[in-house]
Amino acid sequence: MTNNLFTSYSIITYGCQMNINDSERIAGFFDEKGLKEAPAEKSDIVVINSCSIRQSAVDRIEGKIRKLRKIKNKPLIIVTGCLLEKDRKKLSPLADHVLPITLVSSWPLPFLKKENIPFFNLSLKRSGPTAYVSIMTGCNNFCSYCVVPYTKGREFSRPATEVIKEVKEAIKKGYREVWLLGQNVNSYNGGVDFSKLLKEINKIHGNFWLRFTTSHPKDFSDNIIFTIKDCKKVTNYLHLPVQSGDNAILEKMNRPYTAQDYRETVKRVRREIPDIALSTDIIVGFPGETEKKFRNTATLFSEIQFDMAYIARYSSRSQTAASEMEETVSEEEKRRREKILVEILKESSLEKNKPYKGKKLRVLVTKESKKKGFLFGKTEGYKTVLFEGSKELIGKFIKAEITDYSSWGLKGKISRK
Ligand code: SF4
Repeated sequence: MTNNLFTSYSIITYGCQMNINDSERIAGFFDEKGLKEAPAEKSDIVVINSCSIRQSAVDRIEGKIRKLRKIKNKPLIIVTGCLLEKDRKKLSPLADHVLPITLVSSWPLPFLKKENIPFFNLSLKRSGPTAYVSIMTGCNNFCSYCVVPYTKGREFSRPATEVIKEVKEAIKKGYREVWLLGQNVNSYNGGVDFSKLLKEINKIHGNFWLRFTTSHPKDFSDNIIFTIKDCKKVTNYLHLPVQSGDNAILEKMNRPYTAQDYRETVKRVRREIPDIALSTDIIVGFPGETEKKFRNTATLFSEIQFDMAYIARYSSRSQTAASEMEETVSEEEKRRREKILVEILKESSLEKNKPYKGKKLRVLVTKESKKKGFLFGKTEGYKTVLFEGSKELIGKFIKAEITDYSSWGLKGKISRK
């Protein structure tokens, strides 16, 4: 392929919302350079924005590259994103380039003249009905299982003025949901603290919801609880990863709180905001997690009655402190523990979803369902609603009457009143 043939690109994103948001910046930058977004099979450049959080994610990327190599068009393959040194080395011989994401404007591509534009100054091409806004990058917490401090570096907060400007632009363009992103948003320090940032954004004129992830229990103050309670635009949804319900495991994970601290935090949150929807992250099979320790997690998990949870089987990642620990739980046992928690979750989320039947809820329409003529939306508590409607509604608020529920979501119909 000759250099002047770079006219189109495709971005394949793995991982979290932060990666989605980073891909939106690459897309915005490439668009500005005159390239057109196209399906991977028809693109001159394919960018893979990767995720190293689990070994399986890296394996999937490897498989993807091999598949892309078979495309007739022979696109230039660039791997970027959240990568450990070891994965970088592994993927290098397969891809054409493995490049740092924050230096997109200086990537060695013929149509780019090294501009060194700071990553957050690149324009955004948003890819969905939610305006994701990264307020910080990196992390200083060094949870012993996590690669983020190694792949994304130390914590850095974007100045509040910059964040607020980006939010205002999104609202002006009609976005109805703003989602602030950071690995540990409660330690945000971009000139103001996180509560103040939420309050400032809440003051922005417009009809929108304000969400944020991720919160760390150790930094989750009363100040934040009252801010969620008092700010009308901040949704009554909280994602608060607990990771384990056993104190010894929490210590080994380098999560500086106890199961009791977590219970107390949830109690305070629910006392102030009784209808808050609560979700969490849990890792099963961490090194040293005996049956008894796992039972402590299962007890906390069923006691708290979460609305939703993301349960992961422990996966050792190189460079992390936990990778030095001896793995004591077999894959089979991890699966068994995961299954036990999923069963608990099925019951708690069913109980949590039940009271919505017959209610009329405000829903943000997010995407089309595979079922023809049906759409998905999210409630303020981040519950998925399936209902009949036309795709012009995507990105808009509607009112839906909830007609049915299951553990994993709600069904409804558009209500005119
Ligand atoms: S808080 Fe812990 S789990 Fe979250 S990104 Fe930082 S090190 Fe990783």
